[in-house]
Order: sequence, then structure tokens, then C-alpha cells
Amino acid sequence: MTTRKIFLLLLNIFCSSFLFSQVHFLSDFESASIGSVKLLDSVWIKSTPTDSMLTLSYEISSRFDPQNPVDTSLSPSARWYYFRITGVKGKQLFINIRNSETIRPFYSYDNKNFKRFEYVENINKGQINKIFTQDTVYICHFIPYTCSYLDKRFEEWSESKYVKTEVIGQSQQGRDIRMMTLTDRSVDDANKKRVWIHGRVHPSEHPSSWHLEFLIDKLLDGSVHSRALLANTIFYIVPFTNPDGVYGGLSRSASTGVNIEINWNRPDSLTMPEVKALRGKIENLTKEKPFDLFLNMHSQISGTITYWIHTAESTSELMFRKQMLLSALTINDNPLFSPADLSFSDVAPRYAEGWVWNRSGNSTVAITFETPYTYYKNDKSGEWVSLDNLKSLANNSLFAISDYLGISSDARILADVKVSRPSGWKKVNDDSMVYFGNECLITNKQKQRVRAKVKFPEAGTYKVYTWVAGAAYNWSDNLINRWKFVGSVTVSKKCTYKWKGTSDQMNGVANKMLFIK
Ligand SMILES: [Zn+2]
Repeated sequence: MTTRKIFLLLLNIFCSSFLFSQVHFLSDFESASIGSVKLLDSVWIKSTPTDSMLTLSYEISSRFDPQNPVDTSLSPSARWYYFRITGVKGKQLFINIRNSETIRPFYSYDNKNFKRFEYVENINKGQINKIFTQDTVYICHFIPYTCSYLDKRFEEWSESKYVKTEVIGQSQQGRDIRMMTLTDRSVDDANKKRVWIHGRVHPSEHPSSWHLEFLIDKLLDGSVHSRALLANTIFYIVPFTNPDGVYGGLSRSASTGVNIEINWNRPDSLTMPEVKALRGKIENLTKEKPFDLFLNMHSQISGTITYWIHTAESTSELMFRKQMLLSALTINDNPLFSPADLSFSDVAPRYAEGWVWNRSGNSTVAITFETPYTYYKNDKSGEWVSLDNLKSLANNSLFAISDYLGISSDARILADVKVSRPSGWKKVNDDSMVYFGNECLITNKQKQRVRAKVKFPEAGTYKVYTWVAGAAYNWSDNLINRWKFVGSVTVSKKCTYKWKGTSDQMNGVANKMLFIK
């Protein structure tokens, strides 16, 4: 080797060591979390004839939540991780995250724009392998939805004339638990439907907050339908039930270690302040009238969207049918959600839903709504969860809520189906089928004539859908329990229109129709 070559090699090693010597893992910022970090190996490899690259191999563990002092048999979770690594530019890092369900997590160079690791960068669960192009990188389980970000959104939402905000209590560490009430205050509240939604009981479940944010945005988008929804409904929304957990980067517990999701039936001394705040507010709001709908927004490791449907055995057949109607309306026209994705369990008083069931019975559908972190419909080769598709889901969720509540607008008109020859039909109250209202008309005869009267507010083309009511139990295909497109109607002016059809278009069940501009 010539002196020049030796000089260049030494210079290269010196520069490399100097430039690449400092790699630090940090979790000194909001919602951050990391457990232990262990450097396993550090090797220089010759990446080009004149250059070398440092390859570092780390084993890290996700940080565990505090030990749960109330449900002592529960092991603390360590799902959430969100950390910064500095000094990584031009280095190849192998990071093995031992104790979280990591599949294609996210990274960002500016802590704002996050990108999923590519499949080749995370071939094995929990193992990241990447050469980073900037000196600092943030790595996290999902795109973070933090307290300061929510503060910013709260300020923006508060500017709307439809929004009022209030503090309903304090967390264990003294953070405000905030609620927003969304409704059109120029309309009398007396006949409005009432919907309660809360989120982030489990701090790691960041996708659920994006879902809820997009739902609020959609509600405030000024569209004809959203305005009708606000004129006919009051939404009470608590985006962060557990602000301490979110701020502290915890996984499933509050700052105390308690999983407040299952803290609703404890004696006062073991009930967390977050649950007390929620219960107090709900008791206050439902003194005279129960909620129509109660949504508890979560995210889950399973690669599916789901509603946790309470069994008929643990609630009632009517409650089961109502839950299935809401599910069917959410699955309708949603390529990312299918009947096979629904989950079933018995209602239990330790959960908010069980507490509401004991309080309001059949009047309130109280249900947990889960979004995944990874992909949809258990299909790794399909669509992966992104902010874009969570936004589509939120838009879909809002139409499902409004159809479920029976709210029409000039852009989305619901109508009852009437039959021409009642003798060919039977009136039933059959909770084993999924339909709107208390009863429906069924027939087993073909080509029975049906009609619906609808007021079109202006000239235009309206798409026509019939509700195809099918079985509530063991529902597995996409042919039933959905809005079925049956044609279009064009009118030249505002008018009352009489639609005519047959029993075949609605699976022999005369129930509801939908006209969409
Ligand atoms: Zn959860």
C-alpha cells in the first residue's frame, strides 16, 4: 500500500469515527417512550472502494406501563414506543424491538412527516433495518397524536359556531379532561338525537385519534349533510379520556398504572379520576334522556376495523339488532371493512359500555369501535393504515351514524317504503334481521309492488338505494344488510317524487330507501 493510500484510509477512518461516533437514543419529548437500549454489535463495512459504512446492531425494549395497583393480575403493557435517534446519518442500523408488536412502524426526520418503513426494511416482525439519510430520526409505532397537537386542533375547532368546549374534570396528574359539544344552536335541542364519543382511554392507540379527528372535521365541513346532522343531533366528544397516559407515552394505562377501560364498576376508592369525570358528566347529561349512541374509540393490533358487538344473550335481541344495523351501515360502501371483521363479546359492567347498558338498556347503543395500526381485513398485501384511509373511514362512519339516527338532508334523503297490496305482506318485529325502526313488512312473494314518496329539494339526478335487510346472525356476505343501488332519478325542479319498485329489490323486506344527490 502506498503512503498516499495509507493516508487516505486513515483519513477515512478518522473522518468516519469523528462524524459517526455519536449515536444516542432519546425519549425526552412529549408522548415519547423507550425502555432499554443495548448495542449488540458495531462493524465497519466497505460500502464502496473508497468509503466505509458503520453498521450498528441494537436490541431495544419498549417501556412498560407502571404496575396496575387495581387489577393486580394484569401484566403491564409495553406496546407504545416513540423515540429519537441522533447521529445516524449514513449508517446502517439494525434495531430489534423485543416486546412490541412491530410491523412496519413509522419514521420521520422532522417529527412531523411520518413514513412507514418499507417491507424490505422490516421483513421480520420487530426488526428494523435501514440506512438513514439524515442525522436525526424519530421512530414510532404509529403517527403520533399528542396533547399539544390536540390543543392546536381544539383551538381551530373552537372557532366554529357549532362548537363549545368545556373542562369536565382533571386527570390524576391535574391535566384538563376536555369535552366539545357540537350542535346547531339555532335549532331547539328538545328533539335532537344525542351522541357521546370518547377516545384515547388507551394512550398507545393513536390511529383512533386520527379517525376521531377526521370525523369531527367532516362534521364541521359545512356540507349540506353535515349541517343537517348538526341541526338534528348533539355530539358530546371527549377526544382524550386519558391525557396523562398520552402525554407520558404510556401504552394502555393511566399515570397510576390503572387500565381505566375496565375501571367503571369499582368502588369509589378504586375509581380513577378520569372515569369519575366521565361518569359524572354522562350522569348529568342523561338525567332526563339517554344517549342514542355511545362510541368508545380504540385501536387494536389485529389487522381489522371492528365493532365489539355485545351478544344478545348478555343484552337483548333488540340491542343486538341495533348494533348490527350500525355495523352494517359502517361496512356499507367501505372496501376496508367486512362482516367477517366484527367481534363479539358479552357486555360487562367494568367497561363503559356495560355501565351504560345498566343505566340506559336498549335506548343507547354503546359500543367500542376499533381501528387497526397495520392493514385492513387481515390482508397484509392489501391496503395499509394511513391518514388518508382513516379519513375515508371517518367520512363513512359519519354517514353510518346519521343513517343509524335516521337523519335526512337535502343531499341524502331517507324514505320509508310502502307496499301497494298489504295482503301479500306480513308485519314483523323480528330482531334476527337487520332493519330500521321497530318493525318491518316481509313477503316471500316475487314482484310485489312497493313505493316510496320523497321530496326532492331541487333539480338534479339522485341515486336510488334500497335497504336489503338480511340475517343479523351469522351474517357473512356483502349481498345483504346494505344499501343496494337500484337506479337513478333525474328531476327538472323541486318536487315530490313517487318511486316505484318491487319486493325483489329489497330481499322481500319493505323498510327504507335512500336517495343521494
Ligand atoms: Zn384500546
